[in-house]
Amino acid sequence: MGLFEKCRNFTIVKETIEAGIYPYFTTVESSQETQVTVSGRRIIMIGSNNYLGLTTHPKVEEAAINAIKKYGSGCTGSRFLNGNLDIHHELEQQLAQFMKKEAALVFSTGFQTNLGTISTLVQKGDGVFIDREDHASIVDGCRLSFGKIFKFKHNDIADLDRVLTEYGKELKGRLIVIDGVYSIGGDIVRLPELVEVARKHAANILVDDAHSIGVLGKDGDGTASHFGLNNEVDITMGTFSKSFASLGGFIAGDKDVMNYIQHNARALIFSASMPPPAVAAALAALDIIESEPERRERLACIYTRMKKEFEQMGFDTGNSETAIIPIKIGRNEDTFRFWKELYDNGVYANAIVSPAVPPGESLMRTSYMATHTDEEMDQVLEVFRKTGKRLGIL
Ligand code: PMP
Repeated sequence: MGLFEKCRNFTIVKETIEAGIYPYFTTVESSQETQVTVSGRRIIMIGSNNYLGLTTHPKVEEAAINAIKKYGSGCTGSRFLNGNLDIHHELEQQLAQFMKKEAALVFSTGFQTNLGTISTLVQKGDGVFIDREDHASIVDGCRLSFGKIFKFKHNDIADLDRVLTEYGKELKGRLIVIDGVYSIGGDIVRLPELVEVARKHAANILVDDAHSIGVLGKDGDGTASHFGLNNEVDITMGTFSKSFASLGGFIAGDKDVMNYIQHNARALIFSASMPPPAVAAALAALDIIESEPERRERLACIYTRMKKEFEQMGFDTGNSETAIIPIKIGRNEDTFRFWKELYDNGVYANAIVSPAVPPGESLMRTSYMATHTDEEMDQVLEVFRKTGKRLGIL
């Protein structure tokens, strides 16, 4: 039994490739638009998080190119030392304003944002309370912290109340971390009830709005705004890898809290800063999110129609209320086959299998862009109808 024994025994990938149904690490040969090129063929993309379709927006592209011309390709160091640009500050100021918070802090990825924020805030004697369907970066942020970790049933606020009642009292500080929109199910956190429970137990709230900013909220500013609860959420986290069409992440909250995290988060201090084109692209995208609400409205029309039509066909779409719509299949192998049928018929969606979801609950994750056309959506629906029938899901 050597160190690499597990690697030699890891045969599932080889087997799935041999069966012709391996759905991961697909090579895309074009930009991320409503259609992408794969193996020289155009295929409709309903598997990206490019919710507002901004990755190829002329203003976003131009901003990124101009930033390279002014600042070069990278910062070659952490913001703590040499890699702190004026545009990092500009982005933070604009985000704070947009999120209606005192301050914001930018990290190099969304994943690092959760790692850095949670592990810095939750210390020995504190506890962190997380939903069972929270994103992996939240779970890993908890694992890196020296506090205690408590999980509650998915979007079950009574269960959160129970866990806080049982374990919360002895803790110095309590942090509840939830996704605003759950990344696989597309359902929205029950924030109004959660806020009540948090108040009752003197707990603070961190909302991961990776899939909400640009999608939900009065001004596209996320889940708290969607419920009119901006002042009740202590920290909002977001990423630039979805609606913002870039790469990076941020948190927004009180000045003192942001300042503490800025000077203590290892994921920020010991990692190079967001590169200039990524910062400039995020800034340009923020401007468009604020000035073009019609993109958000168009996106809502698309996902509302798609959910309705999928349900009418007989697919199970769970509790989705947003631009992420799961199509429940069941077994991993059936999901791989479903993926392959879609792919062969010109539709690209994501196969989500266990352990990302519980065994027997595999699904196709579909997600939409404001720039999708009605004709593209007609085609997607037709392919799903045929595939569902052929594979006996419908
Ligand atoms: N939080 C959630 C809810 C996510 O879905 C993701 C990315 N899938 C992240 C955090 C991490 O963000 P990034 O990809 O920008 O690192």
